[in-house]
Amino acid sequence: MDYQASLTFARARDQEDELGGYQAKFFLPLGLARDGKTVTYLAGNSLGLQPRAATDLIEDEMDRWNRFAVEGHFLGDTKWVDYHTLFTKSLAKIVGANESEVVAMGELSANLHLLLASFYRPEGERKLILMEAGAFPSDRFIVESHVKWHGLDPKDVIVEIHPEDGRYILDTDQITETIGGLGDELALVMMSGVQYFTGQYFDMESITKAAHAVGAKAGWDCAHAVGNVPMLLHDWNVDFAVWCSYKYLNGGPGAPGGIFVHDTHGLNPETPRLAGWWGHNRATRFNMDGPFDPMPGAEGWQLSNASVIGLTPLRSSLELFDDAGIMRLRERSRNLTGYLEFMINRADPDYEVFEIITPTEPKHRGCQLSVAVHGPLGKPIFDALKMASIICDWREPTQEGGPGVIRLAPTPLYNTYMDILRAGETLRVVLETVKKQMG
Ligand SMILES: *Cc1c(COP(=O)(O)O)cnc(C)c1O
Repeated sequence: MDYQASLTFARARDQEDELGGYQAKFFLPLGLARDGKTVTYLAGNSLGLQPRAATDLIEDEMDRWNRFAVEGHFLGDTKWVDYHTLFTKSLAKIVGANESEVVAMGELSANLHLLLASFYRPEGERKLILMEAGAFPSDRFIVESHVKWHGLDPKDVIVEIHPEDGRYILDTDQITETIGGLGDELALVMMSGVQYFTGQYFDMESITKAAHAVGAKAGWDCAHAVGNVPMLLHDWNVDFAVWCSYKYLNGGPGAPGGIFVHDTHGLNPETPRLAGWWGHNRATRFNMDGPFDPMPGAEGWQLSNASVIGLTPLRSSLELFDDAGIMRLRERSRNLTGYLEFMINRADPDYEVFEIITPTEPKHRGCQLSVAVHGPLGKPIFDALKMASIICDWREPTQEGGPGVIRLAPTPLYNTYMDILRAGETLRVVLETVKKQMG
């Protein structure tokens, strides 16, 4: 696309784009408007916006509770006993799975513990776990604690793969060669689908294949991938995956997440797991006796009855995803992110201050661009963006002297070309101003 930094261009693109109308389906966070300025929300990678339809759906469920109490479990189209199934079809499309392979449940970190219990089973020499260096802290804590819980020492067992000197990005070859090198000592590859800090979208298919080639399993944290990039978890033979629903899926703060378990494992009742009554055969669940008879598929990992009120906003957002389609959203997302890249490069054409550390190739990234800000200007630039009602996020420089990073995420569903024009132009002006102020 031939990008231009003009109102005429941005307006025309927003009007022509068949998926251009979704911002109107969400509330912009007007509480963040400074001095009446328009809010530009580029933080959907942290917390998605509130769908306008969410409140009505919540009120319906509150009303059903009010009027039917316990019978609400068995009455109506949204009967709570099967509430989790309302999400299955849409989630399966978004992550590329059979419907038997996904279920909306629990919280990401707890779900990851559950799936590690099933899929990290160290035996003899096969006990290593490969992760990307700089993984999200919760994921590191989870993996470390699992390793310790097995009586092993994380130092001996967790292998972190680092980008080569001075780089932020891991090459697929580097990862697959490392996997090959670990060979039959490798038990599990546990990585993020899209890296939260760099925005790199890993080649999940090749990495999963490499893991399987040495007899290891591959599990993915898709917190930053789900609703951002299309995936084919089933076809790629991913063993398991987890995600949360409050980032690109707009499910609301702390909304229950979801899991994927490949049918190879999910349809096998012998796959070991930590069990609860909601994972038990629905037909005999209320007989209240044993033995545990797992539901086939991902549903067999459920522990508890669904958090109905917590899940409800997600219904309104998934309707929009169904409507738009994840493949069409991807096409739009490439263009929006390309536009943001164009605007950032325009703000600093000689790359004096900004360095986009996210891969340049669209297939290696989702919508997010992470911009390293070299020198002391990072925090002042971020603060000035905030004053201009451009909402994004700031990661402090690392202790090892790495630069601070501004993350900007034009979400495929609700951000517009106008948003990006406004953010990019503000970035340009802010950079000039801050440079002058700092001499
Ligand atoms: C957002 C995120 C989490 C958060 O975990 P919760 O259990 O939902 O609080 C964990 N891991 C990654 C990679 C994330 O991006």
